[in-house]
Amino acid sequence: MKTVTILGATGSVGTSTLDLIEREPERFDVLALTANCDTEKLAKAAIRTNARIAVAADESCLPELRAALAGSGIAAAGGRAALCEAAAMGADITMGAIVGCAGLEPVMAAIGQGGTVILANKEPLVSAGDVVLAAAERHGATLLPADSEHNAIFQCFDFARPERVRRIILTASGGPFRDWPTEKMRAVTLEQAVAHPNWSMGAKISVDSATMMNKGLELIEAARLFPVPEERIEIILHRQSVIHSMVEYVDGSTLAQLGPPDMRTPIAYCLAWPDRMTTPMAPLDLVAIGRLDFEAPDPVRFPALALARHALEAGGARPAILNAANEIAVAAFLDRRVGFLEIAAIVADTLDCYDPPAPDTLDDVLTVDAEARRLAGERVKDCVA
Ligand code: NDP
Repeated sequence: MKTVTILGATGSVGTSTLDLIEREPERFDVLALTANCDTEKLAKAAIRTNARIAVAADESCLPELRAALAGSGIAAAGGRAALCEAAAMGADITMGAIVGCAGLEPVMAAIGQGGTVILANKEPLVSAGDVVLAAAERHGATLLPADSEHNAIFQCFDFARPERVRRIILTASGGPFRDWPTEKMRAVTLEQAVAHPNWSMGAKISVDSATMMNKGLELIEAARLFPVPEERIEIILHRQSVIHSMVEYVDGSTLAQLGPPDMRTPIAYCLAWPDRMTTPMAPLDLVAIGRLDFEAPDPVRFPALALARHALEAGGARPAILNAANEIAVAAFLDRRVGFLEIAAIVADTLDCYDPPAPDTLDDVLTVDAEARRLAGERVKDCVA
């Protein structure tokens, strides 16, 4: 029996994680579940799984959470400090499924306990990769990537002989606008941007997929997780999302991991690691799929790819600025305050006007993150005016 905490239990990844652990109650014992403010969904999940504690990160939602849990015997807490305390309860397995850099401090709190930390939440690795990896090393925590591409690479990568890896090939679906000309993309609506052709995901990552910033963030994430020089990590378009990524070796062998476009497969891999567990998905029907297509991505229509590549190459504070500005720009797009093509422009302008020294500590990263958010917020106002 392993104890499990889910940070971001009410989201898309959190819900998929709950689905898997609720199928095997004899294997998983839920410690803490957290959300931002979806108290109804959080309380229902906490009651179903008999969690010890449920936490609303937004403290103003605590009274509602308390009311929803009344009589259940499950503790309720609220606020950022309570979120980090819940993350530090010492679960054997913590799923990091909060969206954005808001997940950084709770993930660090979980790492501080030295257990297994599953990272779906990619933004902390992008913004604070060195800090997160150093903490994992220091505390003996095991980091497992749930992002489907990184999970695929993890399954194919020979960690004993990294020098024998020639290339990592990150596959990208290309999102809903992969065939659209730039002019048409100018008028993209929120509804069009969140309608991903292959995956069902939260709003922020869906927009990131549409701009292809998601693949840019994943490029940085891959460079953090796998000991391969960044210029040997390539991105190719693979519209069926059947191959989740590949590792090519010096002898010409390329290993790929295939699976349905459903996050429950990589999440199950992490939950059961180093074992395997069954999932409810139908087996991959390759005959029905029929063909697998590959294309080069278009850097002109998707400038986010080059922004992320440059941020990775430059290092220092650049990835944290890229991520923070993107979070602000995507939030503004989701609020219908800026247009779709302005997202990458806001990120580019924020990178242009802010160049602080490389952050060394968690506090340094949070300072860079806050200032980049402020500057990107100012830039958003220009778009609206
Ligand atoms: P969702 O938006 O569906 O869920 C986000 C979760 O985080 C919710 O539980 C939400 O609570 C909580 N949350 C939001 N803001 C805060 C905050 N400020 N403080 C604490 N908790 C907060 O996101 P996804 O599940 O789609 O994605 C989660 C992470 O996983 C992202 O980093 C994403 O990039 C990554 N990922 C997602 C994939 C997917 O298929 N969805 C695939 C691969 C990676 P509430 O419900 O109360 O708002």
